[in-house]
Amino acid sequence: MLIVLLLFKLLIWYNLVGDKMKEKNILYVVIPCYNEEEVLQETTKKLKEKLKSLISEKKISKNSKVMYVNDGSRDATWSLIKKINAEEKLFTGISLSRNRGHQNALLAGLMVAREYADVVISMDADLQDDVDAIDEMLKKYAEGNAIVYGVRSSRKKDTFFKKTTAQGFYKFMHLMGVEIVFNHADYRLTSKRVLKDLETFKEVNLFLRGIFPLIGYKSDVVYYERSKRFAGESKYPLRKMLNFALDGITSFSVKPLRLILNLGVIIFIISILMLIYFLVIKIEGKAVQGWTFIVCSIWFISGLQMLSLGIIGEYIGKIYSETKERPRYIIAENLEEND
Ligand code: UDP
Ligand code: MG
Repeated sequence: MLIVLLLFKLLIWYNLVGDKMKEKNILYVVIPCYNEEEVLQETTKKLKEKLKSLISEKKISKNSKVMYVNDGSRDATWSLIKKINAEEKLFTGISLSRNRGHQNALLAGLMVAREYADVVISMDADLQDDVDAIDEMLKKYAEGNAIVYGVRSSRKKDTFFKKTTAQGFYKFMHLMGVEIVFNHADYRLTSKRVLKDLETFKEVNLFLRGIFPLIGYKSDVVYYERSKRFAGESKYPLRKMLNFALDGITSFSVKPLRLILNLGVIIFIISILMLIYFLVIKIEGKAVQGWTFIVCSIWFISGLQMLSLGIIGEYIGKIYSETKERPRYIIAENLEEND
């Protein structure tokens, strides 16, 4: 009797552990959403197909999910996410207490997803990132890469404006000494381990694509064709794009500050030379001349000073917001906890 009981227990134990083993590679796809009611149905359809096929091919665990992050949307996005979750357990969601911006929403999603998943992929809600690149990403992950960056192979489908500004942005970032993967946005695979390390980066001014290369580990890239936004309009107008670029530079590089110093030194040397020149003129008795020159210099130097102060102010602003250590996001609801 006892032996039977013991065998029975062993069987249960084996089943549990066996299940755990099979449960490897729980994939969570994290998608920040801000006013995305127009695209959510289609995105859901596409991802459902993808995940179902990956599960049936046994590439990922059946407990894998898509996690939508509602970033304080003003439209029906959150109620839509809840509806999708109620219909299909493959989809889940969290909702932030208010709009915190793409990067913070993404971070919130990554941090929640890492509690449930072994591997997390982040992508945009608008289907611009090709879902078929997920297979390749998982393959590279299986080969031992902790981070796989999705890199767009071309920008043929972008508008001319977006293409030139984006490309200029990457070049400028490089010049400023920020290490980022060229033409990579936030479509990437990360392992649970990497997300644990990401948590130790406490900065409030988030620029995730600058942080991941800093985390390190073995990484690789996957190329994909980026398509047009499926519906709705871009949540990144020029103003936001410029802010984002400025954040990227001032959060990662002190080069602009160094540049000001160099500029100051050069101007100082020039002004000494000028002083000597003016003294010589004075001694030679060639009185007042060059009014234009003086006025121009005043304008030029004041402009330069204002610019330099502005750049320094930008950094001081960063220090100000970092020292307050305010939370980067507040989660109001988590559908995973209701399940
Ligand atoms: N997004 C967000 N919060 C915001 C702005 C955007 O969560 O405050 C999300 C948006 O829903 C989308 C992603 O960030 O999933 C990228 O935005 P978008 O597609 O508008 O940017 P673009 O592709 O035009 O650069
Ligand atoms: Mg987009």
